[in-house]
Amino acid sequence: MKIIIIGAGPVGLTCSHLLGLSGIENVILEKQKKLSQHPSAHFLHSRTMEVFRDIGVSNLIYSKMPENKYWRHINYCSEILGETYRRHDHFSTENYRKNSKLSDMDVAHLALHKLTKILYENLPSKSSMIFDRELTELSQSENGVKIRTNQGDTYECDYLIAADGQFSTVRNLLGIKMTGFGSWQDFINIHFFSKELGKLAKRSPAMVFFVLSPYDAASVVMHDPDDGEFNIHLPIFGKGSQFYSEKEIKEIIIRMSGTPLKDIVIKSTWNYKMSSTLANSFSNKRVFLVGDSTHQMPMAGGFGVNSGIKDAHNLCWKFSYEKLLETYGEERQNFDREILKIASENFVKLMKIAEASGLEISGVENYKKAADYLPFGESLFNFASKMGQRFLFDQNKARAHLADERNLLCLINPKGDFEISYKSGFFENGGELSQNIDITDKESAIKIRKLLGLLWKENKKPTFLQLTGRAQLKNFPYEIYNVPSCNDDSYIIRPDGYIYSIS
Ligand SMILES: Cc1cc2nc3c(=O)[nH]c(=O)nc-3n(C[C@H](O)[C@H](O)[C@H](O)COP(=O)(O)OP(=O)(O)OC[C@H]3O[C@@H](n4cnc5c(N)ncnc54)[C@H](O)[C@@H]3O)c2cc1C
Repeated sequence: MKIIIIGAGPVGLTCSHLLGLSGIENVILEKQKKLSQHPSAHFLHSRTMEVFRDIGVSNLIYSKMPENKYWRHINYCSEILGETYRRHDHFSTENYRKNSKLSDMDVAHLALHKLTKILYENLPSKSSMIFDRELTELSQSENGVKIRTNQGDTYECDYLIAADGQFSTVRNLLGIKMTGFGSWQDFINIHFFSKELGKLAKRSPAMVFFVLSPYDAASVVMHDPDDGEFNIHLPIFGKGSQFYSEKEIKEIIIRMSGTPLKDIVIKSTWNYKMSSTLANSFSNKRVFLVGDSTHQMPMAGGFGVNSGIKDAHNLCWKFSYEKLLETYGEERQNFDREILKIASENFVKLMKIAEASGLEISGVENYKKAADYLPFGESLFNFASKMGQRFLFDQNKARAHLADERNLLCLINPKGDFEISYKSGFFENGGELSQNIDITDKESAIKIRKLLGLLWKENKKPTFLQLTGRAQLKNFPYEIYNVPSCNDDSYIIRPDGYIYSIS
């Protein structure tokens, strides 16, 4: 079997690893000449880290992260170095304690471009990668898929995985539509370095600084204080990043930092349209869509990348059980719909923080549209909104709202990570993720989900696991690895850790 993956983002690269683990030959085609250097995401959930442990890169990821003391907090503040309205340690929350009970893997914080570098440099021997190849055409027969790239070359494969991101060419060629809220907010992303800022920010370090001031309601991610690597997510109204001069971008950085910095190096600026949408279908015959090509999640809580990794995990084991491939779309579409709700609620919390501080953001986009029709509309709009926010913003209101834990961003989210179950698909009467209990295998104790990863690697095939208690299990069509248990219940657990049946 040969599989082509379109796109070398985090999700395409993870698919390639998982296929390699199954001994399946695969090729990634990436349209760029090199991996993206933009750190658009950074927060990795525990379940994602379990998948990364299975493919052998989790320790590398943990080793490249900054020390935990630099990212365990979120600061709600006037500027990065300004007044802090609330400093929230998300490792001391009830959610974190619950998360630690549900998984033996910790959450992680690593800039996306560092993650993709690790995934790329450690690709298994069955994987290969070709840069500078953009898929432009696609056709399918009963037995395979044929594609053509912008370079005019053609490739054939048994199956195609589309991991080609938000503006997926494959999805468009197949005529698959997205539904939902297509344009929630436009952002400009500013990726920059300043060692000076990194050093100063260590006094009250945080993974994310939510800057709330008369001028801004934006977030800044501190990827690494030692390298001085930061990324600003600034909501914009109407004006794309290409219209900001370097001088203006530097002014934004200095304004949000709260100090005149001398060593700013701007790496890149990107426009990002935050949406909350889901594809109407996740597959078409021999083509399967994963990651951002099927869903765009609001960016509060890191659900974009993490859901994509779960898509990859659900899909890739099924290539070893081809009949089950048809269950992928249905299973993931319903699951991702649930995650989309959680991610959207999280983003609404952020909007409410800004609103509770007095900032009027709900109608801004409409005011902006109106201003577009007026002479000097743009400058009038900017001036009026700055003056308006200056009078509206109230630090005391911000502090009062942020004092209540329930109003804060929920970054560690065990519900979204572990507690959503599959409603339908390849399940007899299961659907939930197996609890990560200790079981005894070959006379040693091992966590059940860790064992599934080891079996996949050792057998070069994703393997079903049967935990045999006193109850009898019905006949099962696939080979199974048996582990005795002294409980009443018996379980069949799928290679992706979800329970197929309980007796
Ligand atoms: C500017 C920006 C800011 C973001 N901020 C956040 C955030 O703060 N938090 C968060 O959780 N998420 C954020 N996201 C979303 C997050 O980056 C995505 O959820 C994640 O990268 C999805 O991974 P993916 O592999 O599915 O797609 P992508 O990372 O988009 O990768 C797709 C890959 O496919 C390639 N490609 C596209 N078309 C073709 C083609 N026709 N042929 C060959 N290759 C192709 C692209 O070059 C790219 O390398 C942001 C995204 C962007 C763009």
